[in-house]
Amino acid sequence: MEDQCCPRCKTTKYRNPSLKLMVNICGHTLCENCVELLFVRGAGSCQECGTALRKSNFRVQLFEDPTVDKEVEIRKKVLKIYNKREEDFFSLEEYNDFLEDIEEIVFNLTNNVDVENTKKKMELYQKDNKDVIQKNKIKLTREQEELEEALEVERQENTQRRLVIQKEEHLQQMLKRKNKQALLDQLESSHLPASLLLAQHKDRSAQLEIQLEKPKQKPVTFSTGIKMISVVKTTINTKYGCEIMFFTA
Ligand SMILES: [Zn+2]
Ligand SMILES: [Zn+2]
Repeated sequence: MEDQCCPRCKTTKYRNPSLKLMVNICGHTLCENCVELLFVRGAGSCQECGTALRKSNFRVQLFEDPTVDKEVEIRKKVLKIYNKREEDFFSLEEYNDFLEDIEEIVFNLTNNVDVENTKKKMELYQKDNKDVIQKNKIKLTREQEELEEALEVERQENTQRRLVIQKEEHLQQMLKRKNKQALLDQLESSHLPASLLLAQHKDRSAQLEIQLEKPKQKPVTFSTGIKMISVVKTTINTKYGCEIMFFTA
């Protein structure tokens, strides 16, 4: 992109790294400053080809070749009208012809070939296919909404799972602390030898580890759009008389 240059003021990306090149519907480039200068009143004509341009139609040039920017914009517009899907056709051949038509229109409009006739063809198509265009537009909006809903559900489930895991970890830490405290208490008050108490403690700790590991053995898989919450209830009887329940999703 180093050699990019505004054709009017000749500023280059090399001399001014913040140079922002803009491109309009005709595919010709101007830098941001020149656009501001030449299109103060909001409209004007292209210096290179004379096409009437609106300032609001200038876009930041994304590709090294400005005609690619032009093609992307044109394709977007064409696909809004030519929005039929494979299921709208009786045969694959018809669908392929339709796709070829789209390519021809995009090519013509990008390269200024037969522009008038191409535009007329598009208008006619739009008139003839009004209903199916509208129907597919609604379909597309609905699909996007459904996708967003599914993503939201997944986000909520993830949050829920994180909370459950946090709770579980908190409980585990509490149990381990309690176990340790019990050992300290016993060492202080019991008449049994310390080595025996330590052995008992080790035993209890090992059992606790096994019990705590159990709920984690159930792997949960879920993917976009599929709600899958399984609740597993596990009760652990600790040696200290309290009953602890685990809920895992
Ligand atoms: Zn310029
Ligand atoms: Zn132009």
